[in-house]
Amino acid sequence: MICTASTDYARHYHDYVDCDFCGQATRGRVYPQAPTAVHCGSCGRIIVNYPSGSDTVNPSCKTSSSRMRR
Ligand SMILES: [Zn+2]
Repeated sequence: MICTASTDYARHYHDYVDCDFCGQATRGRVYPQAPTAVHCGSCGRIIVNYPSGSDTVNPSCKTSSSRMRR
C-alpha cells in the first residue's frame, strides 16, 4: 500500500518561527496521527512536543471524549 496522506496536517503557529534544527522559518505542522507533536515544515523534525493528556494543540482534531479507545 502507498500512503499519500502525509500532506494532511494543520498549521500550529500563526506566524513563522525559526526551526531549532535547520534554522528555516516554519509555521509548524501538526499531523492527525501525532496531535501532540509539532514538526518543522522544512526538515520534518519535531520542534515542540506536548505531553499526552494535556489539552490538544489542534482544536480541529478533537475526538469524542465519551468514546476513548482502550
Ligand atoms: Zn527544521
